[in-house]
Amino acid sequence: MPTRTPITQLGVTGIPPPHALQVVTLHIGNDIEDATRRAVELLGGMHSLLDGRRVAVLKPNFVAGRSSQTGATTNLRLIAAVAEAVHAAGAEPVLCEFPGTEFDYEATYTILGLEEFCRRHEIRILRQVDRWLEVRPDGARRLKRFHVPAELADGCFINLPVLKTHVVSGMSVAMKNLMGLLPRRDRRTMHTLGIQQCIVDLNRGIRPALNIVDGSVGQDGNGPLYGRAANLGVIVAGRDTLAVDLACCQLCGVDPLTIGHWRLGQAQFGECHPQVIGESVGRLASFALPKVSALYRFAFWLMYALDYPLHWLTGDDLCTILFKTGMVGTRPRIIDSACTRCGKCVDACPLPEAIDLHSLRVNLRTCQRCLLCVEACPEGAIAVAGMSGAQKAPATAGAGGAGGKRSYGADQ
Ligand code: SF4
Ligand code: SF4
Repeated sequence: MPTRTPITQLGVTGIPPPHALQVVTLHIGNDIEDATRRAVELLGGMHSLLDGRRVAVLKPNFVAGRSSQTGATTNLRLIAAVAEAVHAAGAEPVLCEFPGTEFDYEATYTILGLEEFCRRHEIRILRQVDRWLEVRPDGARRLKRFHVPAELADGCFINLPVLKTHVVSGMSVAMKNLMGLLPRRDRRTMHTLGIQQCIVDLNRGIRPALNIVDGSVGQDGNGPLYGRAANLGVIVAGRDTLAVDLACCQLCGVDPLTIGHWRLGQAQFGECHPQVIGESVGRLASFALPKVSALYRFAFWLMYALDYPLHWLTGDDLCTILFKTGMVGTRPRIIDSACTRCGKCVDACPLPEAIDLHSLRVNLRTCQRCLLCVEACPEGAIAVAGMSGAQKAPATAGAGGAGGKRSYGADQ
C-alpha cells in the first residue's frame, strides 16, 4: 500500500467564527436541491468553503446498493446540487466512497446507477486508489494510524452522510460516515479495536470542510441497510462534525450519551453546543434505536477478529467469504411453491445472472442484497432471511418492478 509522508490531520484545522458551531436545519419539502443550496449559502457559500482549492472530494454514504428512498444511502439529487455548486465555484467534484466490506464495489455502483449519474453531472468517480496517505492523529487512543486516498490531501472534503441508525455503532451520521474512506484492512482494525473509540480517533484525523446530512428519508430501527424508512424530510448541515451529529440527536430525540462515539467525542473534544440556525424543524415523535442482542455484537466482532489469521493465510476476507456463502447477512430466497416463473425479478435485478429462473436460485456470490427483486415480485414469492433482521423492502416508487434492467440512479 504505497503512501506519502504520514500526517496528523487532514482537512480544515481551524474554522473561523461565526460558522464554527453553526448548524443549519432546513425542511426539504419537494426540493432537496434547493434545500442543499440554501444550506451551503447559510454556511458561507461554496467559494468560502473551497478556500482556493481546485478539487472538492464528496463523500456520500453508499454503504450498499440500496436506494435513498429506503433511507440507506445519500440522495443523488443532494449530491448533484453540491456538485453543481462546486462547478460554479470553479472546482472539480470528485466522488469518493467505498461500500461496506462485504459488498462488491463495482456491482454496488452499478445498482446505484453511479456511472450514468456522474457522467451527467460531470463528477469524477475515484474507483481505484493508486496512492494512500497515512494519517496518524494526535491524541488518538486506539486507532493510531489509518489510510485515506491521497486525493484528500489537497482537496476540500465535503461529507454527505445519511441520518440513520446502525446495528453496531448505534447511529451512523457525520462522524461515522468517514469510515467509508478507509481501506478494508483499516475498517477491520476499527471493528476489532472498538468501533466507538476508533470513530472518535478517525475524527481527530479528518476534519471535513462541510457536512450535509441527508435526512430526506433516513432510517430508524435496525439500520443502516434494512431499518425502517424514517421519512424525516430535513437537511442538517454544518462545519463541525460533532456539532452536526449532536443537532441530529436533538432532532431525533436521541440522548447522545447513549451512543458511544458521541459520548466519547464530547468527553474528549470538549463541550460542544451547536448553534442551530435556518428553520425550526421540531423533533420527531418517535425514533427507535437498534435492538440487537449481545450475541449478535459478539459474533460481528469475532468475524473481524478471525479475519486476521484467515487473511494472512489465504489473502481472502472472512466477512466476504461468509457473505457470499449466504451463511451471514441478509439474503433473498425464492419460494418454489409460490413462484409462477414470470421473470419479473430477473428483469428488476440490475446485475446479470444473479437469479437463475430454471433452478429458482439466487446466486449469493454475485447478489448484492439490494432487494429490488423482492419489491418486483407480484406473488410475494421471495423471502428475505438474515442476521440483521431485514424486513421486506418498502415499496420505492420508480425503483424496479417496471420491467427492463434499471438502476436507482437512472431517474436522478
Ligand atoms: S418475480 Fe416472483 S413469481 Fe416471478 S419469477 Fe420471480 S420469484 Fe417467481
Ligand atoms: S438477486 Fe435480488 S437482491 Fe440480489 S442483486 Fe438481484 S435484485 Fe438485488
